[in-house]
Amino acid sequence: MIDYQRVLSEITAHCSSSDQKGMIASYIPELANVSIDKLAMHLIDSDKNTYAAGDATETFSIQSISKVLTLAQAFGILGSDIWKRVGVEPSGDPFNHLSLLEQENGIPRNPLINAGAIVVADILVSHLENPKQDFLNFVRTLTGDSNIHVDSAVARSEERTGFRNYATANLLKSFGNLQNDVATVLDFYFHQCAISMSCAQLTKAFYPFMNQGKCLKDRTHLTQTQTKRVNSIMLTCGFYDEAGEFAFEVGLPGKSGVGGGIVALLPGKYCVATWSPGLNAKGNSKLGMEALEKLTTKTGQSIF
Ligand code: GLN
Repeated sequence: MIDYQRVLSEITAHCSSSDQKGMIASYIPELANVSIDKLAMHLIDSDKNTYAAGDATETFSIQSISKVLTLAQAFGILGSDIWKRVGVEPSGDPFNHLSLLEQENGIPRNPLINAGAIVVADILVSHLENPKQDFLNFVRTLTGDSNIHVDSAVARSEERTGFRNYATANLLKSFGNLQNDVATVLDFYFHQCAISMSCAQLTKAFYPFMNQGKCLKDRTHLTQTQTKRVNSIMLTCGFYDEAGEFAFEVGLPGKSGVGGGIVALLPGKYCVATWSPGLNAKGNSKLGMEALEKLTTKTGQSIF
């Protein structure tokens, strides 16, 4: 039996002494208000045991981690028709890159780069009655926790400074791959990214992805096929132009956000979340990646 508690405590003790913590994202001004010293890990195993280290119940902006959850909801609504509007190939480019979208006629490479997530947001805006509230309810149900909220100051902050996202959405619209108004879709997108969650809540939200679609309360939210497909997209596209590095170092499907969070999972075994707000040059949490590399190396458990 692996002593996950000891492993998490050792890793967080090691990481907290690092003097190379990366840089906090400041292109969304509101994100810059967080302390660089925050550090958390939380793990749930398949027997529903939980293990925590550091600030594991403190909430932070989940940002791009939300893209997996919108994808899961939109995939549930559209089924495989969703792949007519967004691809499943890694982009090898930064999350907010534009030129590939122009070259490939407005069909984003995958749903986890910004362009793809904006198309997924458009699908949800078209199909949900009250898009922002219905998506928040989906996240709450998946997590089994009604105490999950949107930080509207973060959403407003990005609304003021998200120039590349406006450019992306306008390009998508020009190619006919956005059905709703640019402003309406981006309002939804900025709000999904501004959801605040803790590492403890994130491991619960992602539990179905490691448990063949069933949440902690044993209710089915995703089919086995949907789980397989979303996990494979996380593995190949979850870290943008560092997806190869994450697979190489960590060996798990996962997703990062510029708030400094990462969620990763080992199908059938555990789901883990880390939070350290300092990012590396590719926009992924520097210590979060290091912590997860240590987790899979120390435990000898990865998908490979
Ligand atoms: N809301 C952020 C953006 O669109 C999300 C980016 C991220 O977390 N990588 O730029």
